[in-house]
Amino acid sequence: MNKNRILACVLFVSFLGGCTKTPPPFLAEYASIDLLIENGQVLDGLGGEAQSADVVVVGDKIVFVGDAQFTDDDFDRRIKKRIDAAGRMVTPGFIDLHSHGDPLETPALENFLAMGVTTISLGQDGDSPEVANLSDWLDEVASNGIGTNLAMFVGHGTLRTLSGIGRTPVPEADDLERMLEMLDTSLQVTFGMSTGLEYNPGLNAQREELEALARVVGRNDRMIMSHMRNEDDDQLENSIAELLDQGRYARVHISHLKSVFGKGSERAREILGILDSARESGIQVTAETYPYNASYTGIDIVFPVWAKTVEQFDVAKVERRDELAEFLRNRVNRRNGPEATLLGTDPYTGKTLAELAHELEMPFEDVLIDVIGPDGVSGAYFVMDNELQTQILTDANVGVCSDGSPTGFHPRGHGTFARIIERYVLQESILTLPDAVRKMTSFAASVLGITDRGVVKAGMIADLLVFDPSRVHETATYPNPLQLAVGFDVVIVNGKIAREDGRQADGFFGRVLRPAT
Ligand SMILES: [Zn+2]
Repeated sequence: MNKNRILACVLFVSFLGGCTKTPPPFLAEYASIDLLIENGQVLDGLGGEAQSADVVVVGDKIVFVGDAQFTDDDFDRRIKKRIDAAGRMVTPGFIDLHSHGDPLETPALENFLAMGVTTISLGQDGDSPEVANLSDWLDEVASNGIGTNLAMFVGHGTLRTLSGIGRTPVPEADDLERMLEMLDTSLQVTFGMSTGLEYNPGLNAQREELEALARVVGRNDRMIMSHMRNEDDDQLENSIAELLDQGRYARVHISHLKSVFGKGSERAREILGILDSARESGIQVTAETYPYNASYTGIDIVFPVWAKTVEQFDVAKVERRDELAEFLRNRVNRRNGPEATLLGTDPYTGKTLAELAHELEMPFEDVLIDVIGPDGVSGAYFVMDNELQTQILTDANVGVCSDGSPTGFHPRGHGTFARIIERYVLQESILTLPDAVRKMTSFAASVLGITDRGVVKAGMIADLLVFDPSRVHETATYPNPLQLAVGFDVVIVNGKIAREDGRQADGFFGRVLRPAT
């Protein structure tokens, strides 16, 4: 749309007093209309109630939302594709704030599209591709094709590896300088830096290093997404304080906010209260969560910091065997016991640690030491309290993430966004539909600093969904986590129909997104 047209629209709208019900004269000027979604209930993504409106798409943009008043002649001559959305909602495509996967390996990302996700964010938990030039890697992803849009992060752990710091606690001055330069360069093509302070090598970082990194992130007007140092309930305050410290220099965001073995909504309010006070003091802090009571990660999560890597573990196994066994026994028991650890890597897939121990006739801590080891498997860990996590989800500054991937053995990778609507909106009335959609769209876009997506409005990029909420269904389960969600009838990415009635289109319509300069 050119500037004159916009001006004409603005004048016309201000004269008649509202955009939704006025005839749009400028629409006549388009020789063709690529997509008309008519008669739907539009949720704009900002949290307001649904409005009856048509959505008109030309190229990759929404050009009009309102009563389009097309004539039969228009339908015959100009409109390439019509979708009758009567009785259904039209919303922005969902934005996943924390995703996993390798778009060069599985570029279709059908698990995400099937649950309404049109933008994913990768490079999480301190871990991005270990390449010298992230910009080249992103170009390769773009030319290879990608099913959803991608908002990329650069991982702090990866930067440590690439700059030769590795697991050294305090980097040499010139190594630190090299890492800060790499960060600065990477931030030109990414939306921020992720940290994974519960994993190697990131867990070795100390305050001065994190502060130096945060200054670079802030100077570039980017953000820090953090898998915090420790999510155990008795360590949460410390972990949050460490992140808020970096929040003095840059926007900060808590990845998959959870309390491991904390309980109750009162505890959730305490945690959220810390974030509220930080915001009052001027720190820009947000968070996201996934709607499940089990986490999913490598089994090294239960190993002590001195036995997390294979090298450390091999030494500890010989020199500190009893201490290691005791640590594992206590830690797993505190995390609801071996029954609450569901293994997700072959040959153990689908068995709990308790079942495997029973089968092998060994104590579970010996199974961890002698059979599995810290890099042996990934698993789902049933360590969260439903009441506490649900309370976290309702907070206005908490968004939604899947923390899932096309291949991860946890239903969140295929179910999260369907589950929010099916369970939290319709079954339990914990969120209203406009609020749930806001979290998954405009809120997520604002966290990432994306200004042209996440809202259904003229001028925005056309990432859109058409669906009947009552037919949205999560089919993924813990035993069968790789099953696609159903009910998102039409999934539009950059103005193109990427998925319709459960069928994936030929071709990939996602883009590698560039951050604002
Ligand atoms: Zn994580």
